[in-house]
Amino acid sequence: MKEGSRRKKLSQTGSSRLFRYLIPEEIASLLPQHGSSKELNLVRLGERNTETTPVDIKALFLGPKAENGELAEKMLLQVFRDYIFWRRNFHPEDMSAIQPEEQTSAEYQRLVARFQRELFMLLGELKADIPFYSPRYIGHMVADISLPAMVGYLATMLYNPNNVSWEASPITTLIEVEVGRELAKMLGFGNTPQELARTWGHITSGGTVGNLEALWVAKALKFLPIAVRFAAEELNVTGLTASRARIPLESMRAWDLVNLTPTETLDLKDQFIAAYTGAHPELEPQEAVAEAVQQLKAHNILTLGDQAFFSRLTDEDSLNTPVIFASQTMHYSLQKGAGLVGIGAGQVISIPVDKYYRMDRGLLRQALYEALEMQRPVIMVIGVVGSTEEGAVDPMYELVSLREEITEQGLSFFLHCDGAYGGYMAACFRKPSGELRSLAEMQKEYGGWPTSEVHQSFAALGAVDSITVDPHKLGYVPYPAGAVVFRDGRSKELVAQEAAYTLGGRAGHPNEIHLGKFILEGSKPGAAAAAVFLSHRVVPPDQGGYGKLLGHTAKIARKFYHRLLLLAQSIQDDFIVTPLVLPDTNIVDYCFNLANNDRLDIMNRFSQRLYQELSIHPESPVQTRSFIVSHTEFSYANYNPEILKSFLEQKLGVKGDYFVSSKELKQRRSEGWVGCDDEIMVFRTTLMNLFTLEEAWGAKDYIDLFLEEIPGLLRKALAAL
Ligand SMILES: *Cc1c(COP(=O)(O)O)cnc(C)c1O
Repeated sequence: MKEGSRRKKLSQTGSSRLFRYLIPEEIASLLPQHGSSKELNLVRLGERNTETTPVDIKALFLGPKAENGELAEKMLLQVFRDYIFWRRNFHPEDMSAIQPEEQTSAEYQRLVARFQRELFMLLGELKADIPFYSPRYIGHMVADISLPAMVGYLATMLYNPNNVSWEASPITTLIEVEVGRELAKMLGFGNTPQELARTWGHITSGGTVGNLEALWVAKALKFLPIAVRFAAEELNVTGLTASRARIPLESMRAWDLVNLTPTETLDLKDQFIAAYTGAHPELEPQEAVAEAVQQLKAHNILTLGDQAFFSRLTDEDSLNTPVIFASQTMHYSLQKGAGLVGIGAGQVISIPVDKYYRMDRGLLRQALYEALEMQRPVIMVIGVVGSTEEGAVDPMYELVSLREEITEQGLSFFLHCDGAYGGYMAACFRKPSGELRSLAEMQKEYGGWPTSEVHQSFAALGAVDSITVDPHKLGYVPYPAGAVVFRDGRSKELVAQEAAYTLGGRAGHPNEIHLGKFILEGSKPGAAAAAVFLSHRVVPPDQGGYGKLLGHTAKIARKFYHRLLLLAQSIQDDFIVTPLVLPDTNIVDYCFNLANNDRLDIMNRFSQRLYQELSIHPESPVQTRSFIVSHTEFSYANYNPEILKSFLEQKLGVKGDYFVSSKELKQRRSEGWVGCDDEIMVFRTTLMNLFTLEEAWGAKDYIDLFLEEIPGLLRKALAAL
């Protein structure tokens, strides 16, 4: 078949089914090595993949006792044998480099012996590692990895593809782009392959890098209109207009320019490039585009650096120090990232949370109007979906509507959602078509979860600009697999970096995809992308797949919450236990106290004693623990003290004025006061393990076992006080 007609044929058959979201043109240009028989294969594979998904969690994991050990062993053996044949079949005419006689030499044997010995040492030491797979591990945000993820990772790792560039990973680069689009669909950025092709998502080493990349892009985007104005001046491009009011660019001050919306900003860039190209018919179009892009780059804040960039903005163009507003529950990676991209960790202003640990809309609104009043540029606003400590979901729908409101007033910003933890729960909210499910239908399936607020927040995700979401958390995929997804794929051009030797250059194919050009990281495992890909193929990221798994975990968390309330009744004569809030996702936080203690310092000391029984220490290795939980500390400085004080008073019997700032604490201690503290010790349980409600001992499940254990541990902690 001729090239042209082959492409036409692919377009006619619709998208290939191995890659459901890459559009036919992308596949046709990037898999040219496959003839038409491959097309048939792709389609056939797809047919098999469109069956309705049977999700039996019992087939999906190795199992707490490695019950599926034989299945996994069989698959891994198949993977390895298949891989060996692949090696033998690459230029089979070549001679062997290692001869059988050499394999029996004394030297050879000595090395093998050393290898064996050292391997068993390592395997021995690893037994002190944490049994994340066990339903007795209910601590941090990690559980077992799924079998598809494990096998997909190990299989691909053998090939060792490097997704920095297409040349080093012709298959897994495409897989990563496909996975990015699957995540974009799950989060509500689009449904059809054409819509999804306009988004941009990829795998990162984790949520930290996902957030960092969003900060990087948001900063470049914020100041791009200023770069356009300088570049237009330089290249004599006139007639550009920006924003809904269609004001000529030349007459816009820096303050107006930085308050264009992200979409208006990216449109302005396109407009500039088109205007320059149109004004220079003597140049090849590609050449003209390159010149315009180069000029833009020369004026970009990432090229100039803050010092040189801002020093050019004088008089009525001068700008105040830009800020970021983020939920008080934000992950510390955001401060790290803000420091790294030069925004300044100190310019990340935290917006206090309400009594559900969700960002307080009223306080955000106030902060935004103050910024408007003082003409302080807001680079971005960050809401958290599934906060690291509480699993709380910020009111994303309020953030979206607030942005609409204040954009009208002349202040705009980039809206980011840190869904590193909770983002995958979006799967529960989406039908396979991508359509949003109704609240009533979901509550019926998931035992009352989610609340209407949480439902509206997930429904609003499609309107934000970028989302961090970690497959290595609620995707049950091995590390390292985070992800970041941008609603508008043009964002990636703002941080593009050429490198001819690895990222295509002149000799490259025009349609090659070089991830390394647009992302923060360089060399990166194609295996991570393949693990996510295979997981999504077996368990799709929608209602029928991950939705089933994660909805089940939300249900488990509610059970845990309610049974904790029952435990509270049964021990109330001696001890207090109280959950913090009804969980938004699948993390439950709770606090303990002695029944007749009203001092915060004693409550914390008692909690620490108890925690020692429920966590590992060098002296108490994992085998000696019956359950492992995690903890956090709510500090006076980082939380809303009024809300915490009333929680202490009403739920924990800490009645005095004991919760104070660090400074006050020091002062009071020096005056001989007792009872105070500047932190509250909180227990934290992540209910990700899908086997938690299985019968563990007789009719008891793991929550029963855990709660039965508690009274004894409380007495032990009291005795040790
Ligand atoms: C875990 C987490 C991160 C950081 O992700 P890593 O994968 O650990 O880098 C960021 N934000 C939130 C909300 C998280 O829970």
